[in-house]
Amino acid sequence: MTAVDLMNTYNPLPLSFVRGEGASLWDADGKHYLDALGGVAVTSVGHCHPSVVEAIRDQAGKLLHTSNHFAIEWQHRLAAKLTTLSGLDAVFFNNSGAEANETALKLARLTAWYRGIERPRIVVMEGAFHGRTLATLAASDGPGMRLGFSAYDEDFIRVPFGDLGALQAVAKRHGADVVAVLLEPVQGEGGVRPAPAGYLRAVRALCDRQGWLMMLDEVQTGLGRTGHWFAFAEEGAVPDVLTLAKGLGNGIPIGACLARGRTARLLTPGSHGSTFGGNPLACRVACAVLEVIETQQLLANAQRQGAWMLTTLQARLAGYSGVREVRGKGLMIGIELTRAAGNLTRAAAERGLLLNVTRGTVIRLLPALTLSDAQAARIVEHLLEILQSLHA
Ligand SMILES: *Cc1c(COP(=O)(O)O)cnc(C)c1O
Repeated sequence: MTAVDLMNTYNPLPLSFVRGEGASLWDADGKHYLDALGGVAVTSVGHCHPSVVEAIRDQAGKLLHTSNHFAIEWQHRLAAKLTTLSGLDAVFFNNSGAEANETALKLARLTAWYRGIERPRIVVMEGAFHGRTLATLAASDGPGMRLGFSAYDEDFIRVPFGDLGALQAVAKRHGADVVAVLLEPVQGEGGVRPAPAGYLRAVRALCDRQGWLMMLDEVQTGLGRTGHWFAFAEEGAVPDVLTLAKGLGNGIPIGACLARGRTARLLTPGSHGSTFGGNPLACRVACAVLEVIETQQLLANAQRQGAWMLTTLQARLAGYSGVREVRGKGLMIGIELTRAAGNLTRAAAERGLLLNVTRGTVIRLLPALTLSDAQAARIVEHLLEILQSLHA
């Protein structure tokens, strides 16, 4: 029997890095890689941003953890910033996206409980991804990931993403049992699929009419990724519950579940908690990340670089038989191929470009929001070369 150290969950490339700076990574041999994946939308202000490094260094030398049995000044500062930016009222801090979504699901459950809904249902989308805990997995929809983990399935009603008619049909059939709708403004793991224009606003209106909570999972789209602080801003569809994680800590684990109105006041002492959630280090670093996004005007940069990459890729790949569609928002770009991408990630890495493929056929780009013109151009050139060589 061979020795086992790690459980066999990730199937990583035989590649490892020892140093990073901005959108650059280096392996132990000193080979340079252009990082168009950003640790899956996590290192949004780039690897080792000096302000983030300084926040970690300084806080590590002062205080890392005291528990939520005591007040934590940095939690209040971060919560104030996040509520101001989003227009929501209160925050609960977690350590990951799945946990933030668990908090959202618990808020929905509690709302139903207070309303006396016996069999509460939450509407979710085909192609959704909300995390790997049992409940967030039941809310998710992807090939293979739920196999063997069935739980809470009856809590969810699944409709096609972007199909308002399907949602209206749910309102007719199950309206009184439904307590919330949970969705991503742009499906990430599901293949970089932006909701159709007007959809979020229509969902907001339907939720208002039905008394449903609108819960947005912006774990991937939030905090500048789409060129806005939050993807919902584009349609002015402010949700009742909003979840964040990936880009919030730039690699220091932190998640957040925000709520507004009555939903923001549902939890009471003892009803929810987290040992690590919102510790001084994570909150301080997240504050530093938000400040960098603001002072370096990274929303505008993400919009500009993203728009340039999207239109350039669309133009250069038009009529290219291997490509079905190029789509995205801001620096969240997907290139859907007509067939399985095979070992494209490996071929790209050999050429010094790091990217990801989701759902087997969609190349996904999630580079740092600090991307320069030259780096954006290099990602596009590399990609075109790789696609051509694969086709040849
Ligand atoms: C990554 C992701 C999650 C899960 O986040 P974890 O930190 O891995 O638990 C949830 N929702 C969306 C939209 C994501 O992209």
